[in-house]
Amino acid sequence: MVEMLKGIAASDGVAVAKAYLLTQPDLTFTKVTVEDTSVEETRLDEALTMSSGELQKIRDKAAQTLGEEEAQVFDAHMMVLSDPEMVSQIKQNISDNKVNAEAALKEVTDMYIGMFEAMEDNEYMRERAADIRDVTKRVLAHLLGVTIADPSMIDEEVVVVAHDLTPSDTAQLDRNFVKAFVTDIGGRTSHSAIMARSLEIPAIVGTKEITSKVKNGELLAVNGIEGDVVIDPTEEQKTEFIQAAENFEKQKAEWDKLKNAQTVTADGKHFELAANIGTPKDLEGVHNNGAEAVGLYRTEFLYMDAPDFPTEEDQFEAYKSVLEGMDGKPVVVRTMDIGGDKKLSYLQLPDEMNPFLGYRALRISLSELGDSMFRTQLRALLRASAFGQLRIMFPMVATLQEFRQAKKMYEEERQKLIDEGVTVADKIEVGIMIEIPAAAVLADQFAKEVDFFSIGTNDLIQYTMAADRMNERVSYLYQPYNPSILRLVKHVVESAHKEGKWAGMCGEMAGDQTAVPLLMGIGLDEFSMSATSILKTRSLMKRLDTTKMAELANRAVSECVTMEEVQALVEEYTAE
Ligand code: PEP
Ligand code: MG
Repeated sequence: MVEMLKGIAASDGVAVAKAYLLTQPDLTFTKVTVEDTSVEETRLDEALTMSSGELQKIRDKAAQTLGEEEAQVFDAHMMVLSDPEMVSQIKQNISDNKVNAEAALKEVTDMYIGMFEAMEDNEYMRERAADIRDVTKRVLAHLLGVTIADPSMIDEEVVVVAHDLTPSDTAQLDRNFVKAFVTDIGGRTSHSAIMARSLEIPAIVGTKEITSKVKNGELLAVNGIEGDVVIDPTEEQKTEFIQAAENFEKQKAEWDKLKNAQTVTADGKHFELAANIGTPKDLEGVHNNGAEAVGLYRTEFLYMDAPDFPTEEDQFEAYKSVLEGMDGKPVVVRTMDIGGDKKLSYLQLPDEMNPFLGYRALRISLSELGDSMFRTQLRALLRASAFGQLRIMFPMVATLQEFRQAKKMYEEERQKLIDEGVTVADKIEVGIMIEIPAAAVLADQFAKEVDFFSIGTNDLIQYTMAADRMNERVSYLYQPYNPSILRLVKHVVESAHKEGKWAGMCGEMAGDQTAVPLLMGIGLDEFSMSATSILKTRSLMKRLDTTKMAELANRAVSECVTMEEVQALVEEYTAE
């Protein structure tokens, strides 16, 4: 039955394809007594063989796409399946107790899991427990005839439907097959949404109920520009969406013509248009979209993609390849911003009521736990500085003491490297992200000590409005054009300029087409955004006059009371 849902438009583009539900399967079963235990043993054998075949495929695919080291986790899973001791215990349980295979499997594997988990300080054994838990789920699914979804195994065109997608789920999506994704929860600035934009996968988040409305294989029409999704569309609706997809492609072809053009306004002023990246692989998008710099390299993805902390050498190679790839153009590298929705499988952080307000980012780097991680990263960065124009930026700075402490560690590592005879660039700008209101308010003082600011509006807006960026129920409070946010941004930019420093923005607001005219008027120097937003922003800037935009910005911060009033004013000043 045709049904239409509205969500938050998270990544531009339009697609029509079958739904692929990436949800947890229902693995509940009832324990029953059986007459013929041999039937249950055969069922178990079949489920084990199917699981093993599946794991082999997943392993091969992981080795191809992620590398041999990442693939090894599946070897461990296959070893569990072929453990003769465990398999014979399950069969024994079936014949002794005359129970179904599901019940026998669960009882024996639970016993092993309990035993391994009890060995509290043995990391290796706890990992075995996790492997057994994973494998048991797979075998149970086969016994029950339900499918375990696996995004890395998708090999036909689909729209992925999920309750939520973690950044690591998103990283596994193959854009050749995944034509779009739609989730129940999430906001425009959650990291899976940000990643969808770099992967150029159309996306809608925060529909609240897509997983309960759509069945596997049902046709979906998705418009990531408007945030509309239609389940089981009529022929007419399909044509409408396909038309919208064609229009979008035409529009993109127009923007593409500006790829090698300068970013110059109607009155001849230049702004720097930079791209946000998560991994060196994203450089392709940076070049394809004609970015003039990298304004934010989110290095935590380097940590999230690895099975353990990346070494100084691994990091050095990654940073060097980005600096070289940008051929002397500026690259702002942000030190690790772990925590919030960015977790590491190998770093156990305490459970917190409010992770976005908790132990994250620079707070970890400056603590005892993070000290050596942070110094390793600084050393890798300093070594890489010889290969391009590096700028270093600290995330989540709340106080000047935090900045001073981080800067001191940076200076210490720099001196050590110089003493060791390592080549380090003479001048590396060291700046901070402005994403905590306290730092925004005190920007005039910070500006005396830092080399630059980059305004992280994804967090700055969530903290200023006290509205969780991951929570679709309060997503209406993500208001980049609210006069309160504009006043903060204006204060930050003016404070930087008073001290002769530059101010950029790397939050999603920098590429928001309604915000751009305001930010031009405020005098922001650098705009860093998802690479896919660069050309449309260049096209917009080309037809706007900065004097007129300055008047717009002044009126917005002094006369407007609501976001809607600001929007109306922007429309008035930018009408073609
Ligand atoms: C921000 O907060 O605006 C930002 C750019 O950082 P992140 O989205 O990674 O938190
Ligand atoms: Mg942030």
